[in-house]
Amino acid sequence: MTPEAPAAVLWGWRASLFVAALAYGTLAAMVVRGLVGGFGVRTADMVLVTVGTMAGMLAVLPMAALADLPEALWGHWIPERRWRRGRCPACAQVRSDPAPPTPGTATNPPCPECGAPFERPAAWAADWRALRHAAWVLVPAGVLGTAAGLTICARDEAAFRRFVEAARVQDDSLLERSRPRAWPASFAQLNWTAGRGFSGPPPFESPKVAD
Ligand SMILES: [Zn+2]
Repeated sequence: MTPEAPAAVLWGWRASLFVAALAYGTLAAMVVRGLVGGFGVRTADMVLVTVGTMAGMLAVLPMAALADLPEALWGHWIPERRWRRGRCPACAQVRSDPAPPTPGTATNPPCPECGAPFERPAAWAADWRALRHAAWVLVPAGVLGTAAGLTICARDEAAFRRFVEAARVQDDSLLERSRPRAWPASFAQLNWTAGRGFSGPPPFESPKVAD
């Protein structure tokens, strides 16, 4: 009978991890979009960005060790501390036995308060279960983050298109315009030239055009 983390702590913790992973996924998708390049919606680009972002999510996979932190705290560390202080691991009742009982033997009477066996709590280890819990956070956060990142990039491209169209109304001899993508993809450029139209080349292909 190991004590369990309160549901509010457990779900609050997982929700916080999800929000953090979602923010990471969104920024990762924007960076990958900047690296892949392209302008507007092209299926091949979208697939590349999705694959790249999911690969980027692998970088936060060690978060698996954090996903079960409330379980580790309530299920192990707290009972372990109580045990070392001679208290019931489950309910913290002070043991009244004159001598500390031998762990794991039948001579240990159960806790008079809650009936839990007076035994040393099992050691905590992040296992496949923790990895599965982490996957439940990371995979949806990666998918939603990719969608959010691509949406922000598409809005950024639409804003650039409106900007260029407005500039052409002002000056019909306009030949080219470019500006960086929105942060965190500002290392890559959005371009427009009168001859080739709109493009979002990857950073190593971005020509630095002097005005
Ligand atoms: Zn107890």
